[in-house]
Amino acid sequence: MRAILVNGSIFGFEGDSLIVSEGIIVKVGYESSLTDYFMSEGLRKIDLEGSSIIPSLHDSHTHVPLMGPNTLDLRGIRSIDELKEKVRRWVLRNKAFIYGRGWDHTIFKEHRYPTRWDIDPFTGDIPAVLVRVCGHVALLNTKAVRLLHDRFGNRINEYLIKEDGRPSGIVIEEGVDLARTLIPKPTLEEIRKYIINYVMEYISLGVTHLNIMSVSKQLMDALSSSGVQDLINIGVYLTPETASEFVSSGRINKGIRLCGVKGFADGSFGGRTAHLRKGYRDGGKGKLLLSEASFKQLYSLSHKLGGQLAIHAIGDGAIEAVLNYALRAGIPRKKLRIEHASLTPPDIIDKLSLLKPHVVVQPHFLVSDWWLSTALKPSDLRWVYSFKSLMNAGLNLYASSDFPVEPRNPYLGVSSAVSRGMLQAYTYEETLSTENAFQAYFGDPCFGSSIIKEGVEANLVVLDENINSLHGYDVAAIKPKLVLSAGNVIYVSSDFQSKVS
Ligand SMILES: [Zn+2]
Repeated sequence: MRAILVNGSIFGFEGDSLIVSEGIIVKVGYESSLTDYFMSEGLRKIDLEGSSIIPSLHDSHTHVPLMGPNTLDLRGIRSIDELKEKVRRWVLRNKAFIYGRGWDHTIFKEHRYPTRWDIDPFTGDIPAVLVRVCGHVALLNTKAVRLLHDRFGNRINEYLIKEDGRPSGIVIEEGVDLARTLIPKPTLEEIRKYIINYVMEYISLGVTHLNIMSVSKQLMDALSSSGVQDLINIGVYLTPETASEFVSSGRINKGIRLCGVKGFADGSFGGRTAHLRKGYRDGGKGKLLLSEASFKQLYSLSHKLGGQLAIHAIGDGAIEAVLNYALRAGIPRKKLRIEHASLTPPDIIDKLSLLKPHVVVQPHFLVSDWWLSTALKPSDLRWVYSFKSLMNAGLNLYASSDFPVEPRNPYLGVSSAVSRGMLQAYTYEETLSTENAFQAYFGDPCFGSSIIKEGVEANLVVLDENINSLHGYDVAAIKPKLVLSAGNVIYVSSDFQSKVS
């Protein structure tokens, strides 16, 4: 695109106009001061009618769920009866393996985990694996439990939750990964189609950079051959298995950036598997899943790839362990990412600011984790999702979605960080300004940041509103009108089309 955008509200600038040409931002300032340049170059003039123009957005932690087209969507259901009904209808229609995702027992009216006895009458002999919204807990029917036993033997017993001495059908943590091996794999073509839709959706939201987590070999192949890397910047953090394979084979994938390796130090609050120092209100402390030796192995793997090590750590116990490992190993600050960093009391923030890793957070957890006051002790509750304290400690805070766990829409994320969702009463000191919340979406640890400045690549989004006039929840409704990636128009809303073409 070669144009002058006028009458806009430019994020972080006094001016109202900006010139884009040859893929870069050539000038930023007031229209009056840019007129000479604009006239001499014969540029097209686009009136933004007071809308905001911001750097393009990054999603620092997202997933491509390898679901294929046949997945039972269980998000938002409100009772075990509703779950049974969904399963019953699925079986009527499909009569094939049931892979469901997204249930959340905290919003069930029964307030308990579902069991295999709930769903068995509707599934019969068809195996069912229904993964909870967090991805760390799953419900299996009796058939699937049996298949799991056949395949893995007694190894799976430690992951099966028991009721009256018998497996209830709930599996946790690594048990979920084992259960996933039962699911029939989607074809490469199905995955490719899914990826294209996935990326187009991001583009329409003004997102130009993705960090995709826990990427397997199969997904890497599908990404490479889908062509999406020509539209948007794709960076991947590989699973340890895939990373080992890459290191030994020296494979390169065109156009996709190898950002590093992803590992896990704990689970989730919802599954009570995030590792807490003080423990949960109803007992238990979760579990640390990463030993110092495994941490070192993962780090060496990420080093060989020339990338970063990204570690999932939600509870303060897990974050502390990872920071201690990293400090003892002398890991450079730019080489470590802490994913989620959900519970960070002051001493953990101090330790974080000593090491200064990249901290990748998900503002929309503030909305989804509305029940957190029933899970965490009151003294811990104050320090969940403490974005402002983390920023004030000088840490690089990057916002992300963790899609499909949370919606991928970054404006919902900004709105959550500004309004604090359901945890407002406990954590209001951590409220971010709209500007700071957006700032956390302008960069990612792998690619760096999109900025508005003369001479830099034109990665820009024109919004349908002026963000200075919006508050809290209103931000959630923002929609882009125009998205530029390296100066190329990659999205135009239908009502803006006539101005651009
Ligand atoms: Zn994730």
